[in-house]
Amino acid sequence: MRLLRTLIWMGGVAALLGAAAYLTARYEVADRLTGLFVTTQSWLPLTLKVEQFLVVLVVASLLAACATVVVGLSVIGVLAARFAVARQQPLSQVAAAKRQIAHLEEEHARHLEGLISTAQNLTKRLDKRVLVQAIVEAASRVTSGGQANSIVSLWLLRFETDTLVFETGCSCDETLFAQTEFQPTEQPFAHVLSTQKPWGLPVGARETTLVKREKLGQLGPATGLLVVPLVIEHSTLGVLVVFCHPDVLKGDADQRLRYGATWAELTLALAIAIQGEIAILDRLTGVHNREYFMKRLIQEIERSNRYQLPLSLLMLDIDSFKAVNDTLGHPQGDAVLKIIAKLIRKEVRAIDLVGRYGGEEFIVLLPETGYGGPGASIPGALVVAERIRKAVDEEFRGLQKPLNLTVSVGVSIRRFPEDREVDYRELIRLADEQLYRAKTTGKNKICLLVPATPQEVR
Ligand code: GH3
Ligand code: MG
Ligand code: MG
Repeated sequence: MRLLRTLIWMGGVAALLGAAAYLTARYEVADRLTGLFVTTQSWLPLTLKVEQFLVVLVVASLLAACATVVVGLSVIGVLAARFAVARQQPLSQVAAAKRQIAHLEEEHARHLEGLISTAQNLTKRLDKRVLVQAIVEAASRVTSGGQANSIVSLWLLRFETDTLVFETGCSCDETLFAQTEFQPTEQPFAHVLSTQKPWGLPVGARETTLVKREKLGQLGPATGLLVVPLVIEHSTLGVLVVFCHPDVLKGDADQRLRYGATWAELTLALAIAIQGEIAILDRLTGVHNREYFMKRLIQEIERSNRYQLPLSLLMLDIDSFKAVNDTLGHPQGDAVLKIIAKLIRKEVRAIDLVGRYGGEEFIVLLPETGYGGPGASIPGALVVAERIRKAVDEEFRGLQKPLNLTVSVGVSIRRFPEDREVDYRELIRLADEQLYRAKTTGKNKICLLVPATPQEVR
């Protein structure tokens, strides 16, 4: 740059000198200067000597030359700077893009870390109740606004009954709804289950099948209805029913995208919540699976030792069940298994544990249940077993063979302290033995081994 400037300076001076020499020779400069001196003299109010005029003229010329050089240099400088900027621009764009990528990568890593830690926390605390509550609250947050707070409910698809069952809600209670259990063929569920896409619609007469007519007023300004299926890998786990302000349904593409992402996250959380529950359930009947039942049985035996409590075990087997499969087909057999599992669950207390032991065998654990006190006429376990036997008998009575089904039950009771050495295997073996006895002595009956002599009921 400095070299360029020096060269320009030298070039300018040389050009000036050259021009001066040329003009002096070519245009009789002395005469012209004299002419200029005379003209200037006539314009100026003061009188100048020739020497003074020449000095002024030289100084003015030098100043003009300097000004020309400065302007020229400035123009060249500006042009050079522009050129340099133009060359640097692509470079700075590349740098900015790199910075952006680094920032995005950082964001992505942070997001991923957050997701991983959330997933870890979720799997550590597989408390389904806490998770589903978090899901409805999150759904409520994204759909509530200044105009109206939304009313959110979560309905889970129960695979064992194939119904949509009210699970939990946010700002709503289940009495708002006409029923707490809907068939997947009923609207508005049928539509979202078939399309597997969210459906927004105004609350109209059609939805009174969903909401009790007299409770419609509870919705206030939340007169829009958004029904969101929670879909993961093409299977619908449940449905969110959201009553919100109608404006929420009008969301633009961006907003829809945001909702879409939120629903996807909620579905993931729900999948984790349900998975925790499913892992301990039998997929066909919805009662506990054998592995989980065994774990709980061992724990309950420890607990009964610690608190000095008795417990009882029932082994149930459906009588002549094979004929259902053989004559009506396996799907019909499956349907029967579901019905009987439901009946068993209905007849036991909340603290009792029902499991599927094998194909058409069920097992029931009755904590704190023994032979009863000295005054008890009949052991508690027998009462429960008889309730189940009777419920099954009544359910299928009158149906044609092979659907006139019944169950046989074997019972074992673990007293405390007498049977403190009886472990879970022995308890099961004893119940199984009694079940075998019931089977071989007529079926549709309950057998129990009492301490002194085997006792047969019915
Ligand atoms: P019993 O009165 O002696 O118990 O006769 P049963 O016919 O019930 O006994 P068996 O043990 O011979 O038959 C049990 C049948 O249960 C055989 C098997 O095909 C059927 N089974 C086992 N698991 C399932 C299942 O998940 N679904 C269906 N549909 N059938 C099953
Ligand atoms: Mg069997
Ligand atoms: Mg059987």
